[in-house]
Amino acid sequence: MRNLLLFLLILIGVYYLRRLLTGDRSEGAAPGQAPPDVAPPREAELVLPCAQCGLLVPASEGVEAQGLFFCSPEHQRLGPTRQ
Ligand SMILES: [Zn+2]
Repeated sequence: MRNLLLFLLILIGVYYLRRLLTGDRSEGAAPGQAPPDVAPPREAELVLPCAQCGLLVPASEGVEAQGLFFCSPEHQRLGPTRQ
């Protein structure tokens, strides 16, 4: 009877020890789920050609005037090239 109790205690101890160890192990492997160094996917930005030189520039970095897109205020001043 005493051996049975000891056996049960050992079983319970092993169970909690394994739970503790697997818990630590899963936490060690879990960072792959949400690694802090991986940035969230950025929104694709529209890239437009300059009406003066044809350079492809992100829409947020260029200048838009009279329905035309320019890479810089300088090219906006020069105006569109005629094709
Ligand atoms: Zn330009």
